[in-house]
Amino acid sequence: MGLKFEAFFYFNKQGRRIEIDKLPPLRKSEPAQPTKDGNMVIFSAVKLKELFEKERDYPWQKPEKCSCCNSIRIWGHGFAEAIFDGYNQPLLLKLYRCPDCGCVIRLRPKGYFKRFQASIETIRSSIICKSTKNQWLPGVNPTRQCHWFRSLCKRIKVYLTDTWCQGMVAGFDYLLQLGQAPVSRSI
Ligand SMILES: [Zn+2]
Repeated sequence: MGLKFEAFFYFNKQGRRIEIDKLPPLRKSEPAQPTKDGNMVIFSAVKLKELFEKERDYPWQKPEKCSCCNSIRIWGHGFAEAIFDGYNQPLLLKLYRCPDCGCVIRLRPKGYFKRFQASIETIRSSIICKSTKNQWLPGVNPTRQCHWFRSLCKRIKVYLTDTWCQGMVAGFDYLLQLGQAPVSRSI
């Protein structure tokens, strides 16, 4: 990606200081992420338009194994509603359950953060628009965009520290590569 670093360290989620040369390698794929309730989220190539049309008949790709315990016994576990921009009703995301460890696996579309209705691309475009033109992206609620921008500022301060001088967009990209949702309000 060719990102340059000016910060000498950042803080990991546990608040431990990590020197810049010990940063984890930038990731290309999105691994399964645990949620606060101990369940797992797997990002999967979902066609939202097709999901909207087919609802429960959408051809979900069943995970090969449990991301918690590696068991290959995965059972269907119903659906959960989730809201995405551009759709006037919630879409049904497939749930699976591992009978061996009890973990619930939720599939979510790639290109969206957990708990965000706007796509990563839209959020990133909003950050670019604000940092380069000092304007909000047309067609997207300015209040939401303001929340994204403020959360990103806060996150850059916390994780990349005040010494980060690569700008907001590079900060967004770097936090994203660390596996974080750069505009998430919970630190
Ligand atoms: Zn399991």
